[in-house]
Amino acid sequence: MLFRVIDKNEVPSLVRGFAAHYEVVGPVERNGGFAFDEVGSDPSRLRVDYDTTLLPPKKYLFPPKAELFTYDTVNNEVKDIDIPVVPRVLFGLHSCDINAINRLDAVFMASDFPDPYYRAQREATMIVGIDCTPNDHCFCNLWGTDEVTQGYDLFLHDLGDRYLVSILSVTAAEILAVATSARPASPKDSIDFQEKARAFKNSFSSGPAVYELPILMDAFYNDGLWDELGDRCLSCTACSMVCPTCYCFNMVDKLDAGGRSGARLRLWDSCCSPSFALVAGGHNFRPTAASRVRNRFYHKFLGYLSKYGNTLCTGCGRCERACKAHISPRVVIQGLQHKAVQSDAAAQGEGGRS
Ligand code: SF4
Ligand code: SF4
Repeated sequence: MLFRVIDKNEVPSLVRGFAAHYEVVGPVERNGGFAFDEVGSDPSRLRVDYDTTLLPPKKYLFPPKAELFTYDTVNNEVKDIDIPVVPRVLFGLHSCDINAINRLDAVFMASDFPDPYYRAQREATMIVGIDCTPNDHCFCNLWGTDEVTQGYDLFLHDLGDRYLVSILSVTAAEILAVATSARPASPKDSIDFQEKARAFKNSFSSGPAVYELPILMDAFYNDGLWDELGDRCLSCTACSMVCPTCYCFNMVDKLDAGGRSGARLRLWDSCCSPSFALVAGGHNFRPTAASRVRNRFYHKFLGYLSKYGNTLCTGCGRCERACKAHISPRVVIQGLQHKAVQSDAAAQGEGGRS
């Protein structure tokens, strides 16, 4: 990995350097919060000091709605839609969101059946990461996603009045060199970076340990915890809609009134939706909110982990903010650990009596 240092006041110049070749998307202020949006060549809209956004940057790689092809049932013809691929820079992503994109890459690009739509967008996208300041909803530190070592082109580490820039791509390095007066990192830059990294780790509030999570998920599969959470869940699907790692989708046909032509659409879907596991004939494999909440966390904490070696949660906290029923990964983890403590105490009590 190559490192350079730039002054903070060179960020606008770096944005303009990218904007000469790419559409630049980054965090901007909107409705009292922040959202990813095109900033064009006007870096003054960028708010690199944002805490989080309502929706993750996933929408630029995997849009909420995409028309894939049209068909004509009379002439028996199918026509692929050329989905526009815009060379784009996602500027100012935090570690959790880059780690989330790495999780999506594993599913959509590194699998036996790569997704051509996702791949086309991803290959045309550069990523510039930036350090963040955790808020009360952040728990990326539990999963180790408070750091990222791959999946970006540049990463800007905050050193106060300057950034230490980690460089992972030649194209981005060339733009950095032309647009800024990037200089080699000095020994003081390295020391400041280590001190900042230590302070960042210490800035998180402590959270539950997660190393036993997979076994707890199995041990308490039939526990009443899921009924308690299911009773609270509104099946609104907000948690999945804001999640940077959720990737379920539905295929829907939009037919004209006479059924002679139509289009096939891909839409974001959610395993918390009551109709998600509904199949032909009317059978629903997950008819209760409890079964759907359990499935959501099983996939995140166990299913994806078994296949790809990581949990499908990066601790971004978006679902925790969005859920009106106060259901979140941390609530589930704490609930399972509470059950484990109760179970241990009960076992010890029985051992004492025998
Ligand atoms: S867990 Fe919360 S956000 Fe998700 S579907 Fe249930 S109520 Fe909605
Ligand atoms: S499950 Fe919640 S905290 Fe985890 S990545 Fe998704 S939105 Fe973020």
